Amino acid sequence: MSTVPIFRCASCGEYIAADAPTCRFCNSPVDFNRAMQSAVFERNKNALLNRASYLQILGTAMIPLSGLGLIIGLLRLGIMAVGFVVPLVALFTFVELGKLGPSDPDVAKGRRQCLVSVACSVLAWLFAIGVTVLLVVAGIDR
Ligand SMILES: [Zn+2]
Repeated sequence: MSTVPIFRCASCGEYIAADAPTCRFCNSPVDFNRAMQSAVFERNKNALLNRASYLQILGTAMIPLSGLGLIIGLLRLGIMAVGFVVPLVALFTFVELGKLGPSDPDVAKGRRQCLVSVACSVLAWLFAIGVTVLLVVAGIDR
């Protein structure tokens, strides 16, 4: 069973199958090539929006994790090791989403999620490094 790509009707904005001859909501004719292009665009957009939402979860999760890192030194090391990857990917996703047209409310939401992810993960990363430096300076080796 093959999955038919879904795209947004140019006339009414409802989601319809790209291989349909006419829109099932407003009956306007569907141009197959344009529909396929639009379907690819929607798929890319959804992939980026999914990533933005995961990045926000990851980024905000790093805040409590960096707090736990006060007790568990290994966790702090982990945050320092991978913590810069999350904001980098979030910034990249922010830029990619911007190319899709910032007027789209879904895109705007995705971009906000990216920025939250950057802010939280950078804070957690700096916190983890700061705590480690303080512990080293204070001579408490963990
Ligand atoms: Zn329609």
